[in-house]
Amino acid sequence: VIELGAPRRSVETTCAYCGVGCGLRAELRDEQVVRMVPWKDGRANEGHACVKGRFAYGYATHEDRITTPMIRDSIDEPWREVGWDEALAFTAARFSEIQARHGRNSIGAITSSRCTNEEVYLVQKLVRAGFGNNNVDTCARVCHSPTGYGLKTTLGESAGTQAFASVAQADVIVVMGANPTEAHPVFGSRLKRRLREGAQLIVIDPRRIELVDAPHVQAAFHLALRPGTNVAVLNALAHVIVEENLHDQAFIDARCDSAAFAQWREFIRDPMHSPEALEELSGVSAQTLRGAARLYASAGNAAIYYGLGVTEHSQGSTAVMGIANLAMLTGNLGREGVGVNPLRGQNNVQGSCDMGSFPHELPGYRHLSDTAARSQFEAAWGVSIDPEPGLRIPNMFDAAVDGQFLGLYCQGEDVAQSDPNTEHVEAALASLECLVVQDIFLNETARFAHVFLPGASFLEKDGTFTNAERRISRVRQVMPPLSGKADWEVTRDLANALGCTMDYTHPEQIMAEIAALTPTFAGVNYELLDEYGSLQWPCNEGAPQGTPTMHVEQFVRGQGLFAITDFIPTEERVNRRFPLILTTGRILSQYNVGAQTRRTANTAWHAQDLLEIHAEDAQQRGIADGDWVGIESRVGATVLRAQLSERVRPGVVYTTFHHPVSRANVVTTENSDWATNCPEYKVTAVQVSRVNAP
Ligand code: SF4
Repeated sequence: VIELGAPRRSVETTCAYCGVGCGLRAELRDEQVVRMVPWKDGRANEGHACVKGRFAYGYATHEDRITTPMIRDSIDEPWREVGWDEALAFTAARFSEIQARHGRNSIGAITSSRCTNEEVYLVQKLVRAGFGNNNVDTCARVCHSPTGYGLKTTLGESAGTQAFASVAQADVIVVMGANPTEAHPVFGSRLKRRLREGAQLIVIDPRRIELVDAPHVQAAFHLALRPGTNVAVLNALAHVIVEENLHDQAFIDARCDSAAFAQWREFIRDPMHSPEALEELSGVSAQTLRGAARLYASAGNAAIYYGLGVTEHSQGSTAVMGIANLAMLTGNLGREGVGVNPLRGQNNVQGSCDMGSFPHELPGYRHLSDTAARSQFEAAWGVSIDPEPGLRIPNMFDAAVDGQFLGLYCQGEDVAQSDPNTEHVEAALASLECLVVQDIFLNETARFAHVFLPGASFLEKDGTFTNAERRISRVRQVMPPLSGKADWEVTRDLANALGCTMDYTHPEQIMAEIAALTPTFAGVNYELLDEYGSLQWPCNEGAPQGTPTMHVEQFVRGQGLFAITDFIPTEERVNRRFPLILTTGRILSQYNVGAQTRRTANTAWHAQDLLEIHAEDAQQRGIADGDWVGIESRVGATVLRAQLSERVRPGVVYTTFHHPVSRANVVTTENSDWATNCPEYKVTAVQVSRVNAP
């Protein structure tokens, strides 16, 4: 905190939007935030910030904020404002009563990647120690859970390998299924700077993202693949590298499991993986596939950055492993300028995963079957922990519809708008006997809630966020919580109401507990974070100042594991009734379901979601630019305005999901990743037709 002379002061904190995690300084006058400026010492952003971080903070004091707890006996009744004690006692009584009737596994919780590490940690502790089960999942389930699975399997750690700064050393940069200039703008600028300096770019994306044609940045290759063929394309690239002997045998011999590599090499050499065999399926010419493979393999340093266009598929985990295979094959791991780098969507996706809010893992990615890890938590918490994994989010919804799952504590996550197949989600939420929503606004999910616990914005609390490069940064309280409680206090008090004693008085004590129980966080404390500004985990005895580059001497799992990546087509097929493939993404000025960005003073930001459609497809359907169009899939239908665009290829349409009125997820299906159940948002077969204005 810097005193600027009463009544002015400023507070250094961290942006609560995307996974870049920019350091920001909130400047206050008369205790009102009047400006957000990028913090010049912020290592993730080096003095830069985008429009969201700088200008979209007004939502914190928007008139829609709910600051008083509310309860109701049934969702047909109006809300009743009550005090905190009554709301928490009501919740505790309902949860206890449900468990008494239906068993301890009948309730669970969803944690938020918008909340701090400390807050997420408390929710998973409440579930394991208070609810007595492992029914805790994170909203990362629907975005980067395949990253966790794929990178843990191949490299041994569920996280990106590099610091953002490492891109300055890259000679060839692959951007796959990500749109950094829109979704991760400050990193996007850094990446562009390196491209302007001469690094070569390969874009693998069905859509012609801005980077492909950015001034002075022409992509060497744009692999405009058909949605759903990521794994086939990755296999084709690997096939060329092996066939043309472009791989780094010395690296493989020194660093990787030789038996797994030998088996994988036989698999990938099969002619079925050749570019010529896959060009029709993928929609990318064999010549382009071969050129891209040669460029990637011949670089001194080649780095891969990827996003939800890789993970949100029925083969999301396979694609992540395919990316890791490519990096190991060419020796592009373990030093600056290389690596496998997931670009995380939300500010604390990495942290929410690190903190053990998965139904099968304790904090630090330790599986529940790890007896030593489980015993450590049992001793610290004074409870016994069920070794059986709990329910994932989609399993919770299915069990709710079946009447087996009846109580849900939902921390800062609007599942009714963000999760796929909205009608199924709404049916599940409507089946619950006690839905508790903790949020700053009365969101779409709250329509089905019995308890609303007002949350706090990032300006109202202390804690930490962990960004996409594993960087833990401080969040500092700028103003008191409008509701009187920060989210960690709400969870603590709910735990106490349930008889699960928690006596923390500051998030620093929670971080001390996390550090004591989580080897990768063992050296993290607020004092050190204040001293260094931020720390990249692992931060422990072996790396007291953190770890910018992972897997330097050896992989975390020991030897890198080449994974077999069979291409299995998605079940979502186009046919005469649903001839187009819908894929989704974000725009720069909006953020996810728009709860915050739609509540900013700048009305220019309130643009609607549009359906991008190629002129050829539009002409066939008599659709002109700006027309209203109906979009129908196998599970639902919605209406948007059409935007004719050359960014999408014929046969593919694209939209964003920032506005509740668009209900884009009404049409997305329940198909999901085979390993993690991450929904297949990126491939939905649809029909599009011109309709009258709604
Ligand atoms: Fe915030 Fe991301 Fe923009 Fe940085 S790039 S200011 S973290 S939204």
